[in-house]
Amino acid sequence: MHIGCPKEIKPQEFRVGMTPNATREAVNHGHKVTIETQAGVGAGFSDADYQSAGASIAADAAEVFATADMIVKVKEPQPKERKMLREGQILFTYLHLAPDPDQTHDLLASGATCIAYETVTDDRGGLPLLAPMSEVAGRLAPQVGAWTLQKANGGRGVLMGGVPGVGPARVVVIGGGVVGTHAARIAAGMGADVNVLDRSLPRLRYLDDTFGQQFKTSYASAGNTIELAREADLIIGAVLIPGAAAPKLISKAQLSELKNGAALVDVAIDQGGCFETSRATTHQDPIYDVDGIMHYCVANMPGAVARTSTIALGNATMPFMLALADKGWRKACEDDPHLLNGLNVHAGKLTYYAVGKALGIDV
Ligand code: NAD
Repeated sequence: MHIGCPKEIKPQEFRVGMTPNATREAVNHGHKVTIETQAGVGAGFSDADYQSAGASIAADAAEVFATADMIVKVKEPQPKERKMLREGQILFTYLHLAPDPDQTHDLLASGATCIAYETVTDDRGGLPLLAPMSEVAGRLAPQVGAWTLQKANGGRGVLMGGVPGVGPARVVVIGGGVVGTHAARIAAGMGADVNVLDRSLPRLRYLDDTFGQQFKTSYASAGNTIELAREADLIIGAVLIPGAAAPKLISKAQLSELKNGAALVDVAIDQGGCFETSRATTHQDPIYDVDGIMHYCVANMPGAVARTSTIALGNATMPFMLALADKGWRKACEDDPHLLNGLNVHAGKLTYYAVGKALGIDV
């Protein structure tokens, strides 16, 4: 199969769909790989890196879209890219179609077969192509929280690990899923005093069994949440209710109960945010102040560490990309029901129930 990877054109997107390692694997499987020139530069991969992995370099996206049987990307195709998709072509990328009727209609019109990273599943009920980005955002959250806590950034001027004779920062992580677990581990590793809140007792048991005394766990009742928040220097919001907007767990009125200069890092901002005062920010202008409480609400946190994120995503997508290339999409999906769950659009038909329901389109 001929696999093509264009440069991402969504603003502030520095990741790339294929790494040189994924390229080498595909070439070793007998496939041809074409990468748009400079596609990997934001993630630290040069055209020469791809060439030495066996890829050809295309002068522009048009050449990639015109020649490849399968397009591998990161972000949903932008309008310009959607016009270049064609009947029978495979598109393998994040799509997030439910809130995006324009993209859905364009993909239906293209006749392409579109497989969405975010709906591919695994045996344990997880989402293996979303998990790496949650891992990245979770591990980044204490790092940006520590920065936000610095005095010059408007924070309390508290050091995460403290020093001999001075206690560490108190960190509260709300939501102990993928993001929350990774956030708690890193915050604890920085020496902070960490407490993780979750509504799921099985999840709290798992955290306690796995991490022991590295951090505390608490049930996420409204009372516990505000009680711990009052004492916190840094609060990391990491909740998810699948398919729903994030619940608001700290109201604007409650900000007056928090310590002046405390930092809120709302990782759940891509689902609307779990603090009432959260609004999405960018890497260029990541923080703002509401009533003396510093908010960090960047909706695409993994973009800050594009190289780590690209490699992590590439590791997760590689087996699926190889299966699609080796077997063709139909056989690959027949053999793997988890990959089949990724199929959102095929030959002008919507094939994913939740997207159809959200957009009122027959599936
Ligand atoms: P997850 O499903 O693994 O974990 C969510 C956890 O929240 C679960 O353990 C659940 O029990 C818990 N929860 C639900 N409601 C709760 C409540 N009211 N109080 C306390 N806990 C509650 O999800 P995840 O992969 O960790 O993702 C968390 C959020 O981070 C999602 O909104 C996701 O979209 C977002 N995210 C954002 C970025 C970013 O760049 N901003 C990147 C990756 C993920």
